[in-house]
Amino acid sequence: MTERTLDKLNRPLKDLRISVTDRCNFRCRYCMPEEIFGRDYAFLPKEKLLRYEEINRLVRIFASLGVTKIRITGGEPLLRKDLPELIRMIASIEDIKDIALTTNGVLLKNLARQLKEAGLQRINVSLDTLDSEKFTRLNSRFHRVEQVLEGIEAAAAAGLQVKVNMVVMKGINDDEIVSFARYFRDTQHILRFIEFMDVGNTNGWNMEKVVPKEEIISKIQSEMPIERVEPNYFGEVATRYRYKGTDKEFGIISSITEPFCSSCTRARLSSDGNLYTCLFASKGYPLLQLLRSGASDETIRAKIIEIWQDRTDRYSEERFQLSQEQKQKKIEMSYIGG
Ligand code: SAM
Ligand code: SF4
Ligand code: SF4
Repeated sequence: MTERTLDKLNRPLKDLRISVTDRCNFRCRYCMPEEIFGRDYAFLPKEKLLRYEEINRLVRIFASLGVTKIRITGGEPLLRKDLPELIRMIASIEDIKDIALTTNGVLLKNLARQLKEAGLQRINVSLDTLDSEKFTRLNSRFHRVEQVLEGIEAAAAAGLQVKVNMVVMKGINDDEIVSFARYFRDTQHILRFIEFMDVGNTNGWNMEKVVPKEEIISKIQSEMPIERVEPNYFGEVATRYRYKGTDKEFGIISSITEPFCSSCTRARLSSDGNLYTCLFASKGYPLLQLLRSGASDETIRAKIIEIWQDRTDRYSEERFQLSQEQKQKKIEMSYIGG
């Protein structure tokens, strides 16, 4: 039986984001800077990762609490072996209506078809620059922009609905806002600009490096006429815009300048099975321990209800009021996923 579970701010539990690995083949400066995530970095050992059967069991329990949307993320989720197998398991759960995945796209070319056949519907590919040299500095020394673009095309050809995510940073890639808009306006893929966020503790974030939504809009507006589009559903994180006279759209996720905590219905599961109720949380609840101690579905379900009912998170709305000390202990983005 599905039941509606509300937190302390009356927000229902509707989405679950699952990180399937903390490892990544990129070292994006804003997420896993190379000097911190170097050769000696201690990633999780295999036995500490949630196994697919464990994820499947948890998703069934979450579905019974009202979750209908799943996003698979990481680290880089396509590094996890046999990922289509996990997608297939989740797709067979009746109450799960939507399965999406976020990836850096480099391994997508060879996996897109299998993922689609397994039941994946949507994919978000992260791409911050179309410039090879900048890509080397910002994302990966060992891969090329063309591989990501090929991944995007392979995903679309396989029948996946593709969105492209660009994290915009002042002085780094804000000079590419208009060229990105133009490039993806001419394809059928929806581009989403993301304001650079202060996730984790290692990416050197400060407000000067954020390009606010209004600035992104005015840059595009000065070259191409655009208009606002109504949200698809309540709580949609991206504000949508259309290029006038076309059916092509883009979106902006403005979690810094226009936080959307009041409609946040997302829970997050780290790759080692900790449950988090906010992207900026410092503490998670160890569900893996509970699973492996032989707890029944009913016990796990009751624990999740208790955690969600106790939830008061609204970090993005409180960001500028919190002390430096309160901000220091956040989990890293690569550990919990976006
Ligand atoms: N590796 C995959 C990828 O890059 O798409 C999935 C995991 S990644 C952590 C998920 C998303 O978070 C990506 O779109 C990435 O650009 C975004 N992200 C990471 N760090 C960010 C930050 N500091 N601010 C805004 N978005 C960030
Ligand atoms: Fe890897 Fe994604 Fe983080 Fe880049 S944003 S380092 S691709 S996990
Ligand atoms: Fe949700 Fe936390 Fe982000 Fe607010 S800051 S939208 S509560 S994840």
